[in-house]
Amino acid sequence: MAGCSGKVFVVGAGPGDPSLITVKGLQLLREADVILYDRLVPGELLKEAKPSAEKIYVGKAPGAHTYTQEEINKMLLSLALKGKTVVRLHGGDPYVFGRGEEECAFLLSNGVCCEVVPGVTSALAAPAYAGIPVTSRGISSSFAVVTGRVAPDSSKTIRYSEIARAVDTLIILMGVSELENIVADLLAGGVDPSTPVAIVEQGTTPSQRVIVGRLRNIVELARRERVSPPAVVVVGNVVKLREKLWKLA
Ligand code: SAH
Repeated sequence: MAGCSGKVFVVGAGPGDPSLITVKGLQLLREADVILYDRLVPGELLKEAKPSAEKIYVGKAPGAHTYTQEEINKMLLSLALKGKTVVRLHGGDPYVFGRGEEECAFLLSNGVCCEVVPGVTSALAAPAYAGIPVTSRGISSSFAVVTGRVAPDSSKTIRYSEIARAVDTLIILMGVSELENIVADLLAGGVDPSTPVAIVEQGTTPSQRVIVGRLRNIVELARRERVSPPAVVVVGNVVKLREKLWKLA
């Protein structure tokens, strides 16, 4: 740790099934003095911490943030400067819509080392547990992962239909509340209304639920089934492979 006055490990906890954390992530979790964890981190994993470890919930439920990102950054910094072994535990992968990179950048700019331990992202694992591979020879040679929600302070908009036409599989995170708008955008942009769509709710957990439809009826199905977050939406012909792979899953 030459040149560092402390260190934080930014660790991916995996998508929900607690056994999907990496070996390295689990080892660090067991050694940590302090763990700052997200809302979507599997509760089971926190039991792996040593009894003396301090566990701080820093989750950000939509519209109900316990701490701002700035406060989280400062907390990480001050704990690391006190010489604690700090683990910042993110749901899925820390660098996939997780703001792990903002935390590392902040720490490094303040002279504290930061090591990222990637995690299994829900973007790939939730479809996989639902029997949907995101690529498949002859069916899908590309996929894109997009967010359904753009940061309120961002001037960027996402051109869903352009992305959907450019790749074979479109994977949408944080898409439940915006599903109607996103589907309207895709249809208006010329994406085939008969394109298969799956929604994987609470993927990789015992409460996993999969809703399958077509672009033309998925909004109605999601409403009827009262789909709620967290859920991953998969758009593309790979969804059909579920018929073959699900029974074996
Ligand atoms: N870093 C995380 C993503 C954080 S954004 C990762 O790599 O998985 C939060 C979004 O991830 C949720 O809104 C949802 O779209 C998705 N998500 C996280 N856990 C999920 C799960 N168990 N099942 C389905 N979607 C999940």
